[in-house]
Amino acid sequence: MNQLQDKLKRIIELSGPISLAEYMHICMADPKHGYYQNKKAIGLEGDFVTSPEISQIFGEMLGIWCIDIWQKIGSPSNFNLVELGPGKGTLMSDLLRTAKIVPEFLKATNITLVETSPIMRAAQENSLAGFEISWLDDVNNLSALPTIYISNEFLDVLPIHQYIKSISQEGITKWEERGIAVNKQSALENVRLSRAIDVDALPSNHEQEPDGAVFENSPSREAIVQIICEQIAENGGAAMFIDYGHAISGFGDTFQAMRAHGFVDALEAPGQADLTSHVDFEPLAKIATKNALQSRITTQSDFLLAMGLLERAGALGQNLEPKEQEKISNAIERLASPQEMGTLFKVLSITDINTHPSGFE
Ligand code: SAH
Repeated sequence: MNQLQDKLKRIIELSGPISLAEYMHICMADPKHGYYQNKKAIGLEGDFVTSPEISQIFGEMLGIWCIDIWQKIGSPSNFNLVELGPGKGTLMSDLLRTAKIVPEFLKATNITLVETSPIMRAAQENSLAGFEISWLDDVNNLSALPTIYISNEFLDVLPIHQYIKSISQEGITKWEERGIAVNKQSALENVRLSRAIDVDALPSNHEQEPDGAVFENSPSREAIVQIICEQIAENGGAAMFIDYGHAISGFGDTFQAMRAHGFVDALEAPGQADLTSHVDFEPLAKIATKNALQSRITTQSDFLLAMGLLERAGALGQNLEPKEQEKISNAIERLASPQEMGTLFKVLSITDINTHPSGFE
């Protein structure tokens, strides 16, 4: 029996259908049965594999990026290095190993991990043994210092709302919110809520979209990026968000549930599958601009190649057996090829207007 499913049904029976955002939030973050509270999500034995788990070079490139930013903002002697949603801690571990080439950087760093899952915290503690680390539940309680934020596949887990275009027989158009209800057979089902989104909040070409078109937004993502931008504007620093998604807002249903490396029905086993969606980077970039900061977006492929992915891969493979070299080139292919993660994944950097981050044109 799925206890979270029972809990969701009770909530819905008591107070009516919930939005997709509420559904995602409960499935991912329920303190007892939520996905990240219980599951070993990442890795071959889990549900999905992420870039830092594919190759150590990913974290190394981010390490070089952070050191470069730190130098460009004046090498502050005390600063926060914050990773959002650090998973197994692999990215941070590779980053910090690279940072050993600049001991002053390491000395100046307060490493802070923003993580809600106790299982993940334990994994991070393990992979970062020997480093002084602090953990936070969210980005609100950071000390007022220059801060460099990094994140990979963090934004995609935050809840989204979906709005579905419906054109009535009289030709009246509404964008109704997707919700989750309980049907007569006592199963969870998709419904449309009476709440609709104002057309001013939609991309300008919404009129050309057909009946059934879907628009997604994520106030949760926007709220976090807003807090980070305010902190950078006030104390200095930069942020980097890497995730699958699109640079320009558009239409389409990108909500997905993943379990054991395959897509599953998102309503089937709440709390057992990873629920995510593609990240719309456009509203996030706009938040940077509103805070008088500079945003840049590129693809993971262009970013990693500009950071020296191939050179590093060559150096790493130099004295290895052909079999090991092949493993490295396969990993490079996965990270950077357009058929794999290279172009679906985007990199958003936010800096102050005087700082040009490396890895971007
Ligand atoms: N960055 C890692 C992990 C990505 S999975 C990697 O690339 O491998 C998402 C991570 O975000 C997990 O560590 C998960 O526990 C964490 N997470 C999920 N929701 C969160 C939230 N609301 N606040 C902070 N961390 C969260």
